Amino acid sequence: MPALHEKLIPVFDDVVRRNPGEIEFHQAAREVLESLGPVVAKHPDYIDSQILGRLCEPERQIIFRVPWTDDNGRVQVNRGFRVEFNSALGPFKGGLRFHPSVYLGIVKFLGFEQIFKNSLTGLPIGGGKGGSDFDPKGRSDAEVMRFCQSFMTELYRHIGEYTDVPAGDIGVGGREIGFMFGQYKRITNRYESGVLTGKGLTWGGSQVRTEATGYGTVFFVEQMLAAKGRKLDGMRVVVSGSGNVAIFAAEKVAQLGGTVIAMSDSGGYVVDENGIDLNLVKDIKLNRRARIADYATERVDGARFIDGGSIWDVPCDVALPCATQNELTGADAASLIRNGCVVVAEGANMPCTPEAVRAFEEAGLLFAPGKAANAGGVATSALEMQQNASRDSWNFAYTEERLRIIMKDIHDRCLGTAEEYGAPGNYVAGANIAGFTRVADAMVAFGVV
Ligand code: GLU
Repeated sequence: MPALHEKLIPVFDDVVRRNPGEIEFHQAAREVLESLGPVVAKHPDYIDSQILGRLCEPERQIIFRVPWTDDNGRVQVNRGFRVEFNSALGPFKGGLRFHPSVYLGIVKFLGFEQIFKNSLTGLPIGGGKGGSDFDPKGRSDAEVMRFCQSFMTELYRHIGEYTDVPAGDIGVGGREIGFMFGQYKRITNRYESGVLTGKGLTWGGSQVRTEATGYGTVFFVEQMLAAKGRKLDGMRVVVSGSGNVAIFAAEKVAQLGGTVIAMSDSGGYVVDENGIDLNLVKDIKLNRRARIADYATERVDGARFIDGGSIWDVPCDVALPCATQNELTGADAASLIRNGCVVVAEGANMPCTPEAVRAFEEAGLLFAPGKAANAGGVATSALEMQQNASRDSWNFAYTEERLRIIMKDIHDRCLGTAEEYGAPGNYVAGANIAGFTRVADAMVAFGVV
């Protein structure tokens, strides 16, 4: 592990002591702290006023019981979370994840990342995250509705347009946001559009929000390549996952002339050298909520499904991990490097392990961390909030252009900051430092609160 600046060692030790067993949170905190050595050397006041100590401790953590009744009349009990991490720059903002792996450590790592990601967008949003260990897989629409209603029956008292604005993440899409918004509206008797983002287009949602995380990741890659005088056109791209982020990343790659040759889900991966047929993936994943293995059986000409295995063994120019945390290991990074990959950009949150990131840095690959590359989703959520606040709605082309400009700005801010702090070309350092300083300056301005 790279060393921490001596002033940051006690901060990290406190994170580990106060949050025992929450390994994903430790990992996310350590990754940011490792970048901040040059910042605290330059600004000892950040240490004196305990900005880091305060940043690593969420402003508020809520854990609640979510009881609901399944289709067989049996009572089920899940656990719900909302970690309101930092509101220096705006209301807490970040998604809800419904997945059996969710526990406090996952929610905290996501919430912590969200602070810096949201700061990097340049928009007025703080950081938070939530979710539940509820597993939507195999559940009927009616079961999902009852779960969402029960979840919101507790959550509603903690959120609000000016307080905390949840959205989707893994397992939470338009359907779940609809059920939760309906319940919030019913309980509060307020049509408060700005309390949730990722809403449907006919009831306060924004154009491009569905596509934004994936599109934004590819806009970011476009900028990374442009900085080296290269283009995505003609490149072979591997995209892990086949959820919202992966599907729309793949769509934008294809629009820009790249070829997506592999995608995956938790069961394995498909390789289609002629280019993945995205309409088929959308039908399998978004309409039928089925498995990616079906792709190979339904598309006969040359597609193959590999049960298990690692998608990162497929040779490519660009790798976009868009599935979940720690899905790309040191060994995976070694095969990408060996096979000549030139760019890796994280569409998911923290999909590359620290060993993988180190291997990319040593090999001199272009590597973009999720808090920069996947910020397009939350940035478009902030655009949705803007439209809600002004009771307006923008068209697709205008909103997509706003997203493209935001991603270019984030890219340039990362590169400029990395240069300023003596780490030219290092997007990890640039993202962490630029994200941090904006939050830190607001916290200093507010005094000890
Ligand atoms: N869950 C997304 C993320 O990881 C989006 C959050 C939002 O739109 O608030 O950034």
